[in-house]
Amino acid sequence: MTFLYKADPVRGAEWAALFAEKAPDLPFRIWPDFGDPGRVRYLAAWLPPDDLERRFPNLELLFSVGAGIDQFDLGALPPDLPVVRMTEPGITAGMVEYVTMAVLGLHRDLPAYLDGQRRREWRPLRVQPAAKRRVGVLGLGRLARAVLDRLAAFGFPLAGWSRSRREIPGVACHAGPDELPAMLERSDILVCLLPLTDATRGILGAGLFSRLPQGAALVHVGRGPQLDHDALLAALDGGRLSAVWLDVTEPEPLPADHRLWSHPKVVLTPHIASMTQPETAVDLVLDAIRRHRAGEPLPGLVDRARGY
Ligand code: NDP
Repeated sequence: MTFLYKADPVRGAEWAALFAEKAPDLPFRIWPDFGDPGRVRYLAAWLPPDDLERRFPNLELLFSVGAGIDQFDLGALPPDLPVVRMTEPGITAGMVEYVTMAVLGLHRDLPAYLDGQRRREWRPLRVQPAAKRRVGVLGLGRLARAVLDRLAAFGFPLAGWSRSRREIPGVACHAGPDELPAMLERSDILVCLLPLTDATRGILGAGLFSRLPQGAALVHVGRGPQLDHDALLAALDGGRLSAVWLDVTEPEPLPADHRLWSHPKVVLTPHIASMTQPETAVDLVLDAIRRHRAGEPLPGLVDRARGY
């Protein structure tokens, strides 16, 4: 049986070295060198090849090399093939660092100071205590919970929003569309950590922005298609939003003449909030294979009906 990797080939070479060390009995191949297709049992991919069922008739598990699976066309996959997303701890650590940086950067007015520096303007703003800066997180999943745990240490009043009801000590939890407005109304800094699904596409738009406190700030680390760029620019220009820290856009990269590149109230990074770390990812994948063989539950198993 073979493990096939189909994503960035440089990282694939790192996976290959780790497989050779940790699972020498499991042949590891990098797309397009898949060898005998009948032997491919496991596939880790960013974008799986078309016609998976016909190409690899004995495939048992499909891994996403990323935390999300929105890049997969779930309807085109064999219906019973388990799809496992990446829940390795390196992704979580990276996301906690990034969102903490962004929330602190917005809390301490970094976009305004970067703009002031460019203009050679020495303009101190009043420092707000963290206890008066309310942070709300859209999504209460693996990444959001780790982020909230770290943000709690600074003393920000915290809230979160999920599809099903969650309880997290120290976090005002909201569930479902009916409770979204209440959560938005108490979010001076809003963080989006939602997966991209039909229900979350375009969620960061004019309607949502109108519910936020005047001058609120946004951190967007979910997926580009969740954000309406025109509504965002209108909210920034009109003062409804004071600043935005963006890691994801649609398209990626943005066209060279897009206003978001140079907007003084925008910090933009190229989808780097967190990345799968080969060492811990290979440990997770090998553990999932072991569990699959033993008939045990798989961590990160995607619920296809839910879409994440
Ligand atoms: P999880 O699946 O663990 O959590 C998703 C959360 O979103 C859950 O709390 C879920 O609710 C909630 N949710 C989903 N749909 C809705 C909805 N319609 N309404 C309200 N809440 C909803 O995902 P992760 O925390 O692991 O990852 C979240 C996302 O972060 C990824 O899907 C990816 O898009 C993004 N990401 C971005 C990266 C970057 O570099 N920018 C890197 C890694 C991830 P419930 O609890 O009820 O299920």
